[in-house]
Amino acid sequence: MSDTIFTKIIAGDIPSHKVYEDDKVFAFLDINPLSPGHTLVIPKEPAKTLDVLSDESSAAIGRALPRIARAVMAATGTDQYNILQNNGPRAHQAVFHVHFHIIPKTDGGSGLGVGWKPGNLDSVEGSALALRIAEAITN
Ligand code: AMP
Repeated sequence: MSDTIFTKIIAGDIPSHKVYEDDKVFAFLDINPLSPGHTLVIPKEPAKTLDVLSDESSAAIGRALPRIARAVMAATGTDQYNILQNNGPRAHQAVFHVHFHIIPKTDGGSGLGVGWKPGNLDSVEGSALALRIAEAITN
């Protein structure tokens, strides 16, 4: 568990432009938006990364995220957007409290830029890797 600037935002100790709140979820505008309407959706549970978030908070986020995305679309007029969720400093996480970015992509191209260098999946290695992942999934 972590205590970050987002904990203080949830508590109202630091101001934010709140767009949504329920008993498990909080959402507010990003202070350094990549495009107008860039919104952060966070669980109130102070989990550092997604893999340690409880099932209850995960379910609450899963329910709220599409609803807030629809509202961002309606308010900004965008019909395209990215969801970004970073885990760990090498993966560009700066605030260590789980958060989902909703980032509208404007007609002019502002929004999230993605560097994507795809490889090739070897079928033998893929079979072994898929099996390892499948066997590691716990309830
Ligand atoms: P990440 O790199 O995924 O950890 O993103 C953290 C995000 O939090 C960045 O986009 C920041 O602009 C945003 N952020 C940091 N402090 C605040 C704040 N006080 N209010 C709103 N957004 C914030």
